[in-house]
Amino acid sequence: MSNILVYALHYDGAINKNSLGAVSEGAKLAKELGGEAHAILVGENIPQDLAASLGEYGAAKVLTAEGPDGLGQPVVDAMAAAIGSGGYKYALFGGGLLGFEVGAGLAARLGAGVAMEITTVRAEGGELVAERPILGDSSISEIKYRSEVGIIIGRLNAFEIVKGGAGAAPVEAISYEASPQSAQATIVTRGEQRGADVDIEGANILVAGGRGLGKAEGFELCTDLAAAFGGSSAVAATRAVVDAGWYPYAGQIGQTGKTVAPKLYLAAGISGAIQHKVGMQSSENIVAINKDANAPIFEFSDLGIVGDLNKILPKLTEAIKAKKG
Ligand code: FAD
Repeated sequence: MSNILVYALHYDGAINKNSLGAVSEGAKLAKELGGEAHAILVGENIPQDLAASLGEYGAAKVLTAEGPDGLGQPVVDAMAAAIGSGGYKYALFGGGLLGFEVGAGLAARLGAGVAMEITTVRAEGGELVAERPILGDSSISEIKYRSEVGIIIGRLNAFEIVKGGAGAAPVEAISYEASPQSAQATIVTRGEQRGADVDIEGANILVAGGRGLGKAEGFELCTDLAAAFGGSSAVAATRAVVDAGWYPYAGQIGQTGKTVAPKLYLAAGISGAIQHKVGMQSSENIVAINKDANAPIFEFSDLGIVGDLNKILPKLTEAIKAKKG
């Protein structure tokens, strides 16, 4: 009864990166507890080979359940049914909005203990202990579960993806009864999200823009610089400018956006609010351009440039182009 059920989010024929990390983490922890990690996918026409591929990340078995793609409550139904019949001690989720929603919903359904934004989990005395940074990441709290099932929801990118499992896992289709709540929401339309192609999590170099850019068109300065860097570089943003509609949400960094750790993070016109800092503070090198010498971002930058970004960014772009020939 030391098995762990891991939710694997999938779309467009691929498993979400955070879910792959969660499956890898679940497999490692289950081994330490003397149990198994099982993954569960919920969706329409789930490809068998996609489900089986989770064996490569350590899942001993993969459960699949038919349900509408993109809604949280049917996943809660399916996971509650699996836990009810499968004897799981923990349910594990990678970071991401659907994981937060399903994890919280599952906790409410089962009356289970839940902790989210978890960055580390360890096995101790046959139980799991989860660590969660609190108070703006200045302190760590440790969490143990007293409920029959403990629900662990990771922070984005907290769990490392480890490929090294036994190969294809056995896949078992499960059925579940849809709860009345599940019928209360339905997807009406589905379309492409503006900026869906923005991949800031995989980039080595990020040029991030904030309100100091002045207007949406100001992002061209960032795009030009990222293009001059070339290779694995992308443009990111603060919540202030995403809320203003200057840049798509897919590029937002911070507490309510993505967590990134590129080799170079160049912040232009960003004040360095704590909610932004928590999403980028692990970057290898942080360079900030701000006209205010007292901007908080300089307190955690490796290199600070005090000045007007409208003058500095074009010069930087030209200098990089010239260097590259
Ligand atoms: P500002 O704070 O307005 O800073 C603009 C900076 O640009 C200033 O420092 C200014 O000196 C500089 N500047 C202006 N003109 C120039 C120029 N010409 N050249 C150089 N510098 C210039 N924020 C996030 O980023 N991500 C989140 O996920 C997030 N989540 C949040 C969650 C909650 C619950 C709350 C309450 C807030 C959250 N925020 C988040 C918002 C956050 O608190 C800040 O408001 C936001 O990060 C500020 O964005 P900014 O740095 O672009 O703008």
